[in-house]
Amino acid sequence: GERLPTNVNHLAEEYLRLAYQGLRAKDKSFNATLVTDFELALPEVEAIAPDLGRVLLNLFSNAFYAVRQRQLTEERGYIPTVSLSTRLAEGLVEIRVRDNGLGIPEAVQQKIFQPFFTTKPSGEGTGLGLSLSYDIVTQGHSGTLTVDSEPGNTEFLIGLPVGQVS
Ligand code: ADP
Ligand code: MG
Repeated sequence: GERLPTNVNHLAEEYLRLAYQGLRAKDKSFNATLVTDFELALPEVEAIAPDLGRVLLNLFSNAFYAVRQRQLTEERGYIPTVSLSTRLAEGLVEIRVRDNGLGIPEAVQQKIFQPFFTTKPSGEGTGLGLSLSYDIVTQGHSGTLTVDSEPGNTEFLIGLPVGQVS
């Protein structure tokens, strides 16, 4: 793929809807609150849009899966929520994907970027999403992909350098 100036707000919002609609097509009873907070003055980044799209789709799919799992616990008053936000911080365009699922235990966080690591039943996960995403972001886009999680709050952060091709 070719790196082209890309509006990350548009790309991310498109894939958020794709992930949500894809899930709802399979499970009509699933509902989640989507929260978006876009930095409107975000500069474009040099991106391979289909590759970055795959990363986003995987992060959103994981987030929806996580809130769905927590919903299955039938905790009272739980509102499944997936958030997408963007901002510019110190020469990086940041894309943050957050969910209020059960969270990722510390010991598991160490392993999630390894190929084939999954906690999902076979057929529901290959364990390749995050390892592929990590390669696409770090090698394909000279960026960073990090996770921060506690019970009830999981955040994946993509950082993409602005105005630099390498
Ligand atoms: P897969 O989705 O096929 O399992 P991934 O590489 O996308 O593979 O994710 C690996 C594992 O990381 C998941 O099986 C899950 O245990 C954990 N994980 C990823 N995202 C989340 C999330 N938002 N909340 C909780 N756990 C997550
Ligand atoms: Mg996945």
